Amino acid sequence: MKETIACKVLDGERLNFHEAEHLYQEAGLLELGYLANRVRQKLHPEGTVTFVVDRNINYTNICVNACRFCAFYRLPGDPEGYLLSREEIGRKIEATLAAGGTQILMQGGLHPDLDLAWFEDLFSWIKSRYPVTLHSLSPVEIDDLARKEGLPVAEVLQRLKRAGLDSLPGGGAEILVDRVRNRVSPKKTSTARWLEVMRTAHALGMKSTATMVFGLGETMAERIAHLEAIRQLQDETGGFTAFIPWSFQPGNTDLGGEEAGACEYLRILALSRIYLDNFPNIQVSWVTQGTKVAQTALFFGANDFGSTMLEENVVRAAGASFRADQEEILRCIRAAGFRPAQRDNEYHILRYYEAG
Ligand code: SF4
Repeated sequence: MKETIACKVLDGERLNFHEAEHLYQEAGLLELGYLANRVRQKLHPEGTVTFVVDRNINYTNICVNACRFCAFYRLPGDPEGYLLSREEIGRKIEATLAAGGTQILMQGGLHPDLDLAWFEDLFSWIKSRYPVTLHSLSPVEIDDLARKEGLPVAEVLQRLKRAGLDSLPGGGAEILVDRVRNRVSPKKTSTARWLEVMRTAHALGMKSTATMVFGLGETMAERIAHLEAIRQLQDETGGFTAFIPWSFQPGNTDLGGEEAGACEYLRILALSRIYLDNFPNIQVSWVTQGTKVAQTALFFGANDFGSTMLEENVVRAAGASFRADQEEILRCIRAAGFRPAQRDNEYHILRYYEAG
């Protein structure tokens, strides 16, 4: 059975749910890595590993959702709560542009006082001053705005798009199975609603990424159910540019528990590359795994090093302390035998970095 499934992968045939489950249970780490690497080589034979130069701007940490796995949020009224001013946001964008950045990823908590007009004003202001791609607001923030305003998701997205929003990050997906979501983040956007926001964004011509946070007490079948949900939506819309799996960071969280190790991360990454046959790109998550595991992940199906992330606060709040500057990212990619290239939000190559 395992051999038959492996042959299907090598022949470029799609695996079904049970085949994926069986492969994960029966295959060793290196077998999974080998298969995922072959899939990657077919999709990206040129031997390039891309990355985007960008910055995460977490505009506020005030959030009413209080997810049990989150170490970042502060409830309204908490003295550690903050909301960045427009000037602070502007300074961060200027520093990003000065470092050769092309993109801003804005994500924050669900602040009860921020309405749709606030984001429209902010995005128009940014776009009128700075030449950046706005890859911002996860489906959870879009859902929150739609509810607060009593508007359909499509109208919220259309207005934000008009104001300058280019694409959506895949945050807030965690595991797209309601049993898991109800346990770890009961107030958060449901599976169906998360998918609806993404479907609507894609229909409006906006691209997005998809993520998965594993290690939240879900079963292996629930992880595959997550992959199945985004694969089906990708069949329908083709709007996802990349998939990014990462392991839950338990530090400073109410949920607590053990973090998945490097082997489990690599196994999940490899299975994702194999199962998501309609996703063009798989990103490593060096910010949670460190650059050495991320470098290894390039042989387990990944072809993109994510972002240089000039700033990141959410994962850091949970105790992950990995940092890497652009030179370190270039060094990792080259040492693994690949050619590094800076890309934009839609994976067009902006610049190759030759050795030297
Ligand atoms: S994960 Fe997001 S929605 Fe949940 S508490 Fe943290 S900031 Fe709020």
